[in-house]
Amino acid sequence: MKINANFFNLKDDYLFATVADKVAAYKRANPGKDVIRLGIGDVTLPLPPAVVKAMAAAALEMGQGATFRGYGEYRGYPFLQEAVAKYYEGKGVALEDSEIFIGDGAKSELGNILDVFDKDNTVLIPDPVYPVYVDTNVMAGRRAIFQDGNAGNAFLPLPDESVKADIIYICSPNNPTGAVYGKAGLKKWVDYARAQNAVILFDAAYEAFVRDSSLPTSIYQIEGADTCCIEFCSLSKTAGFTGTRCGYTVVPHKLKYGGAELNKLWYRRQSTKFNGTAYVIQRAAEAVFTPEGFDETRVNIAYYLGNAKVIGDSLKKLSIWFTGGENSPYIWLKCPNNLTSWEFFDFLLNEANVVGTPGVGFGKNGEGFFRLTAFGDRENVVRAVERVERLLS
Ligand code: PLP
Repeated sequence: MKINANFFNLKDDYLFATVADKVAAYKRANPGKDVIRLGIGDVTLPLPPAVVKAMAAAALEMGQGATFRGYGEYRGYPFLQEAVAKYYEGKGVALEDSEIFIGDGAKSELGNILDVFDKDNTVLIPDPVYPVYVDTNVMAGRRAIFQDGNAGNAFLPLPDESVKADIIYICSPNNPTGAVYGKAGLKKWVDYARAQNAVILFDAAYEAFVRDSSLPTSIYQIEGADTCCIEFCSLSKTAGFTGTRCGYTVVPHKLKYGGAELNKLWYRRQSTKFNGTAYVIQRAAEAVFTPEGFDETRVNIAYYLGNAKVIGDSLKKLSIWFTGGENSPYIWLKCPNNLTSWEFFDFLLNEANVVGTPGVGFGKNGEGFFRLTAFGDRENVVRAVERVERLLS
């Protein structure tokens, strides 16, 4: 038996482990110190009441003979597909229910979709970015090339016509940079993908954080995107589902490559390797799209965005360059005094007892940058910001 040798090509997943080790070592050496974490990539607010109510009601249904459910639909239950379709209608995007696939979150869907693509495709990945795009392709032995994000393009790289790519990743609002593409930028990517006969994998995991109504919240708000884009979305950050697990993937019927409809291939893949998201969870997810659930989730998002504003306002006061924080829970800042990402990490930990995430962990272009997140507690965010201001003023 031979193992998949591509695994040897994966870089060590050292980023968050090293952060945790350094924080633990600091705490051991300084037991009385109050360390505040602004590096959390997980939500901290509990599930909204409407979601919990729906989840509990569905759990009770599962215990009654008359309402018990066994295996569900491979694409998800129609009640949730319809709720998602209605949500897209509100964005001006018309979807058929069969174009919506309910899954257990964006991470697995982003990895699993690669089953329908040939290994010899060239993948174009922005740098810096969410590491899952790179690692899932390395595991499959697929060649990846990178599109540079930097301060010059505000971490929103645009296509280079001279580069040939087959599979293109775009994440907007972006993790880790918090940068959000406008319609003109996304149109350039859609036109480029169509000219290359490529497919765009659009990660919209943070779409619910967009407050500026001129910014797109779905790639399908861009003309032509329904012929070349798959969109991945998640309730993790939208509604606190990181531990509950539910997301959806949109594969329009118009996506056709080499005579094959991608929607049919994806359905075939799902029906072979996936038996659906739990009924109880899909009912909880449905509640996110009810007027009550929608309002409750938006209150939580507004809280996180309030944290982001506190951080952003402070960085402006300190004249530190940053992206994100307005339509995103992430703030991506240039390390002051030309420190490297890890030097700044150590400096903040030791001198202010504040923890963030070194940008270099998200790709080579992240060197010299640093990610802060807005998922913490307001009081802690305010205290952390005060400490950083004292240190850097
Ligand atoms: N996409 C991006 C850009 C993310 O940052 C994350 C989670 O941090 C995910 C996808 C994964 O989301 P999920 O919890 O739905 O798997």
